[in-house]
Amino acid sequence: MNKNELFTVDITDVGSDGEGIGKTEGFTWFIKDTIPGDVIEASVMKIKKNYGFARMVRIITPSPDRVESACPIARSCGGCTLQAMSYEAQLRFKQSKVFNNLTRLGGLNCVMVSGGADAEDGKIPVLETIGMDSPWRYRNKAQLPIGYDKNGRLVAGFYAGHSHNIIPQDDCLIGAEENEAITKCVLDFCTQKHISAYDETRHEGLLRHILLRKGYYTGEIMVCLVINGESLPCADELVSRLREFDGMSSISLNVNRERTNVILGSRLINLYGPGYITDMIGELTFKINPLSFFQVNPVQTAKLYAKALEYAALTGGENVWDLYCGIGTISLFLAQKAGFVRGVEIIPEAIDNARDNAAMNGLENTQFYVGSAEDVVPEVFEKEHCHADVIVVDPPRKGCDEKLLETIVKMTPDRVVYVSCDSATLARDLKWMGAHGYQTVKAQPVDMFPHSGHVETVCLLSNTQRPKKESYITLDVEMEDYYRIKNEGKKSTT
Ligand code: SAH
Repeated sequence: MNKNELFTVDITDVGSDGEGIGKTEGFTWFIKDTIPGDVIEASVMKIKKNYGFARMVRIITPSPDRVESACPIARSCGGCTLQAMSYEAQLRFKQSKVFNNLTRLGGLNCVMVSGGADAEDGKIPVLETIGMDSPWRYRNKAQLPIGYDKNGRLVAGFYAGHSHNIIPQDDCLIGAEENEAITKCVLDFCTQKHISAYDETRHEGLLRHILLRKGYYTGEIMVCLVINGESLPCADELVSRLREFDGMSSISLNVNRERTNVILGSRLINLYGPGYITDMIGELTFKINPLSFFQVNPVQTAKLYAKALEYAALTGGENVWDLYCGIGTISLFLAQKAGFVRGVEIIPEAIDNARDNAAMNGLENTQFYVGSAEDVVPEVFEKEHCHADVIVVDPPRKGCDEKLLETIVKMTPDRVVYVSCDSATLARDLKWMGAHGYQTVKAQPVDMFPHSGHVETVCLLSNTQRPKKESYITLDVEMEDYYRIKNEGKKSTT
């Protein structure tokens, strides 16, 4: 087929970036702006050896799951790739995505179940996706690049396609309602004071991004302007204008003078407030500064962590590890029910936050380590032979390092709770764990990012090789010794 050639195709699947996937005579096409169930006319854009990219020209038969996108710029923005799919269909799609990956890539014997139904004998249930009652206004964070529109007006929005032009975004429907008015206030101020927008290609101009955060439960608002400079002219005047907004709690500058598309630099200049806002997950309070990692969907985060806690099945005395712990949110959730929790995270500032958050919430039964999980856990385990009843992992998209999985198995926890943002690497790791004595018991998808193709999954894994309690009496001396050492380890840390 040649470029621009037209063809008809049924869309049957969704790709990792939320684009539709269809096949013609076994050849795979990736086609943006389409959803499974659509029959479309497409035009060839680019052809590779085994797959190609095409553009949607018109919908011949719309998918029964197709809805009118709520956002007028959904197609050009590209942030919410599934907006044209009804929310129920999005949740079903996410459940089947997890099912397909665990089955095809992980070789697991899974079954999709609906509601609270039990799985058939011997099969691993992939449960219905936990969704939101109202999947809008859920994001507590927005990062808007600043530039000029085609009339030379200062605007905040998103980059159009692969260009450096910014399409203004007045009201993003998944963000906080206040963002629009606050952004307008900043842009009006900058226009009046002749403050220039940063130009990536020439590395000139001052204002790069506006970062906005809102505490979902506290209503506290943070504004942080990312600048290619050391100060903002007339900053006091901007502060007094912004303080007119209800909930305005923290105003700051972030200095980023690098030629980079990383949004934030490392230096903060505080203009108003304590330098952070606070928010809650469940009963716990967290301090969030402009640089802190914090889950962007607090409503679903609470549900995700509650699931992780349920799967951890803590009764009060357990030794727990929380690997890839970020600012310790899951660790602290667990520490409310566990004997002792150890958290490991590679970013030192996140661990500073984790320790602060533990102290602020009065959870002293925690200890945090800076370093990569695959280095820290084997090291601490070698040295202290510390026992683990439950290990929680929440790795980035690439999943867990094999060296870490090996150590987890050596630590013989009763349960492993695997929280994953990528069900393909999850499948790979579950397969490995299955071959080493840890069977997957169930998988629970959670919708953290409605209207996007991403899905978070919580899995419970259980140790199938540990002797049952009643068989303790028949243990040989070596094993008795082993459990005595484990139990001593337990006492010394609680
Ligand atoms: N559990 C946290 C964060 C999960 S995101 C929460 O729910 O908020 C994954 C985290 O893993 C990030 O904070 C990232 O910095 C960290 N990370 C990435 N690679 C790591 C590694 N090799 N060892 C430890 N932490 C790592």
